[in-house]
Amino acid sequence: MPEGQVAPVTLEAKSPYELRVDLGKGVPETDVRTALATGDMGFLHSFTTGSTVDGPGVRVVAWTTGCMYRCLYCHNPDTWTMSNGVPVTIARATEELRKYRHGLKVMSGGFTLSGGEPLMQHRFVVKLLSAAKMLGIHTALDTNGFLGERLTDADLQAIDLVLLDIKTWDQERHRQLTGMDVAPTLEFVRRLALHKRPIWLRYVLVPGLTDDAEGIREIARFAAELGNVQRVDVLPFHQMGRYKWQKLGIAYELDNVEPPSTELIERTCAAFRKVGLKAY
Ligand code: SF4
Repeated sequence: MPEGQVAPVTLEAKSPYELRVDLGKGVPETDVRTALATGDMGFLHSFTTGSTVDGPGVRVVAWTTGCMYRCLYCHNPDTWTMSNGVPVTIARATEELRKYRHGLKVMSGGFTLSGGEPLMQHRFVVKLLSAAKMLGIHTALDTNGFLGERLTDADLQAIDLVLLDIKTWDQERHRQLTGMDVAPTLEFVRRLALHKRPIWLRYVLVPGLTDDAEGIREIARFAAELGNVQRVDVLPFHQMGRYKWQKLGIAYELDNVEPPSTELIERTCAAFRKVGLKAY
């Protein structure tokens, strides 16, 4: 096969827990740069269908590759590197969506872009979400918000719902947990509130790392004051992604961490409910 060409790879995966690496490795660096600058091509780990946990109704989810965080609990570390993803043109991704548009309407669902961190490829993301809206499909963006400033106010209109992760409130802990600062995320959240864009807040609950009661109360207070947080999903830590760390040869620090107890999950939900938010 000539240099620069990549064998077609199926986009569908049974779940994002499928390990995928090096699928975009044959793409020359200049093409990657052009893709990022124009948004005409993106890098996707996979498409999955039938999700009921990534926004309202039943959803198709495209998982992008590339992430600037290194969360200690990440269950998809194969999405950190953009070149692990399949290079996909906007036309191909849109065609993929077109196949599902009637079914998604019937199931009151939509399309969610998740990752990795989708905003690493923000031009592609905006083009694909806009294409989905043109097809009449509800759109959601699952993001850690760190690169939110890349989106213009007009871009925000292509996103019906933002699934927003706040990893932890404490700045030091956030750096320890993700390698990056929390401030840009909070800034983006405030901007979404200003523009009245709906948010579903996601909070990954990890015993010993993100379970401090005061930090959770701070996030709850912050979220309640915004006025655009429609619900909070407390996501219990699990070990389903551990095998990926092992396969990729990355040191994994959470080997001995257990999933949170039912009581801890309930207490965390209660902290959000106490300030008037819906929490699940
Ligand atoms: S932001 Fe998401 S994809 Fe990125 S490292 Fe954290 S958990 Fe993994």
